[in-house]
Amino acid sequence: MGAFGFRRLHSNRERKRLMGVRVRFAPSPTGHVHIGNIRAALFNWLFARHEGGQFLLRVEDTDRERSTPEAIATLLDVMQWLGLAYDEEPLFQTSQEPSHCRAAARLLEENRAYRSAKDGEGEAIVFRIPWEAEQVPGVEVCGSAELAVHPDEPVEVRAEGLGYAGVSKKGKAVTGGVSCLAGFRDLEVSDGGGRCLLVLADVLDRVFAGDSLRVPGAVCLRFTRRAIAFTDLVKGRLSKPLDSMRDFVIVRSDGHPVFHLGNVCDDVTQGITHIIRGDDHVENTYRHLFLFHALGAEPPRYAHLPMIVNAAGKPYSKRDGDAFVGDFRDKGYLPEALFNYLALLGWNPGDAREKMDRAELVRAFALDRVQQSPARMDPRKLLNLNGQYMAEMDPGAFRAGARAVAASAPWGDRIDEALFGRVAALMQTRTKVYTDALGWGYFFVDTPEYDPKAVRSLLCRTGVAGALSALLESLCRVDFADVGALEQAVQAAAGAAGLEPGSLNQPLRAAVTGCTVGAGVFETLAVLGRKRTLARIPHALRLAGLVPATGEG
Ligand code: GLU
Repeated sequence: MGAFGFRRLHSNRERKRLMGVRVRFAPSPTGHVHIGNIRAALFNWLFARHEGGQFLLRVEDTDRERSTPEAIATLLDVMQWLGLAYDEEPLFQTSQEPSHCRAAARLLEENRAYRSAKDGEGEAIVFRIPWEAEQVPGVEVCGSAELAVHPDEPVEVRAEGLGYAGVSKKGKAVTGGVSCLAGFRDLEVSDGGGRCLLVLADVLDRVFAGDSLRVPGAVCLRFTRRAIAFTDLVKGRLSKPLDSMRDFVIVRSDGHPVFHLGNVCDDVTQGITHIIRGDDHVENTYRHLFLFHALGAEPPRYAHLPMIVNAAGKPYSKRDGDAFVGDFRDKGYLPEALFNYLALLGWNPGDAREKMDRAELVRAFALDRVQQSPARMDPRKLLNLNGQYMAEMDPGAFRAGARAVAASAPWGDRIDEALFGRVAALMQTRTKVYTDALGWGYFFVDTPEYDPKAVRSLLCRTGVAGALSALLESLCRVDFADVGALEQAVQAAAGAAGLEPGSLNQPLRAAVTGCTVGAGVFETLAVLGRKRTLARIPHALRLAGLVPATGEG
């Protein structure tokens, strides 16, 4: 008996029943973890936790060039960062190769697979879509079918399948590949006069014995169409006609098992009950259903997730912005916020909630609310959500996170820790990502960087220069710890210059910080302190080509 108990259908089912839900994340490590992949991990994790089941990790590391130890470390690292803890030891697919090969040998022995050599490349092992396909749960008869074929190309019948050329709209021959014989149950090949040239059933024995037949002059294939179908927990009923399928390689000529075999064998080994993965795998699933059956295992339930797309509806990639989990971590996103955002990318709780913590997500998660249509990645929305999480963080943790990022700023070596604490407290509710802290330099340097154009346009507004000069005088006397008093002084200077209330705020901000956004201007002045404020206002006026009334500090 091979590694895959071919006669263990019952025990497999029994095992699964006893074990409850078992799902897995089965990435092929490449050194970067795309958000689409990690979202699959996250949905698996949420489903397992919601169901009280097991979430397993299987590292599909058979691509030895890409699955380096560093790539695997990156994968484990981002999973840990996102809090995607797995149950049981991870299964490394390469460690299973001997059992995959044993399964292939068994399939060969049972005539469910055959050897096939391509010119000089050695023999691969090919899985045969079974002729007696209706023994496979999910295979259904769809009715009779007719396919037009081009008479210039002969129809070829071999054990590997049926080769023929279709007819294009312009009447040209379109040569396709070889379709599995099982797709052409009760096939009759006929010519232009309606004469039957070949009945597949009559030649089947010869064909399976290795004969290859060529039928010239055929124009029509008539057969009963069969399809393999399954009910996807997200997409509903999905099916694929067998005449559009081919037998497929399970062990390459170099002796290495291919993805299909390893993936299915490992799902059997790990006792997986539900496969939740991207919908780019739907085509594979049709094949895998045959493999599960051939291996004597009950297939899991499937849930294929919609892909993540950009604003134009195309697959979301690096070209559209940050696409790898590491990018978000490096930019200073919080794992909880990314987790929350990705959970709602293609799934919703059935109400309007968008900010949900891990426990709420676990409670609410169900596969029937995964949407069928592609999920649009909206980096702005993620940024805002991250900002909400940052605003609600423990202030000490926020300060520490921001401080770590600030260390890499050009002014990072000049940070006064007490001042940093005040700045972090002031900026927390306005911060969207930790890297925003790189813009806090104006609190720590003597002379901030000014955007001369913005400064000029704000400071050259009528009455502003005069009001700022007058303000300089009054700020000498104001208590900078008193935000209310600072506000009063500024409004008084604006009023005295005939400016609308509030209209001095932006010019003043630009003058003391060099930028046009930030915390409330009065709170900012309070943190900056008198000395820096009094020095910067005249400096900015000079930059704007305006002569300040008092000397530069
Ligand atoms: N390693 C494959 C991938 O990353 C398998 C996915 C799966 O079966 O979940 O696409």
